[in-house]
Amino acid sequence: MSQPSRTSDLVCTIASEEAMVHFAAHWASVIKPGLWLGLSGDLGVGKTTFVRHMLYALGWASSVKSPTFTLVEPYALPNLKVYHFDWYRLESPEELEYIGIRDYVQSDALVLVEWLERAAPYFYAHGDLLFTFSYHNEGRQVTVSALSMEGERCISTLRGVPGFLHSFLS
Ligand code: ADP
Ligand code: MG
Repeated sequence: MSQPSRTSDLVCTIASEEAMVHFAAHWASVIKPGLWLGLSGDLGVGKTTFVRHMLYALGWASSVKSPTFTLVEPYALPNLKVYHFDWYRLESPEELEYIGIRDYVQSDALVLVEWLERAAPYFYAHGDLLFTFSYHNEGRQVTVSALSMEGERCISTLRGVPGFLHSFLS
């Protein structure tokens, strides 16, 4: 039986923070409960900013703090639970067990992980999409890779949006 063809990485140029707002809103429109998104890239490149705007697009109306010190910030939206992790301060991958990571895995929640590299095997066992952020001229570049069939579905849906890749150039 032939395998379904894999979509290739989506490379997006995000010219400004305003463009990042639109980019995050597009992703908010395709994500589903249970998906795990990894956010990779240097400090200050925009990972938390992306999460903040995705949460606003999903209907969150209050503040969005970086979970650097708390490891996780939960958000209860009317139809969706979101767990925003930052694993930067993890001493070891085993620490995830202490914070009860199994409860997050079992819940029907959207999971967003900054600094997934601190426990990469754990992330990749669950991950659906990997967003790699980098600095690019005055703005940012974000390369999105699918890690699962569900992740591929999100990428192909957005690829089908007319002018998607050109929406963030200004
Ligand atoms: P990280 O979580 O990757 O460490 P943050 O999102 O906390 O980064 O910080 C990104 C910083 O860069 C914010 O101060 C934000 O205002 C700024 N910024 C400037 N341009 C952009 C852009 N195009 N996208 C995202 N953030 C941007
Ligand atoms: Mg951050």
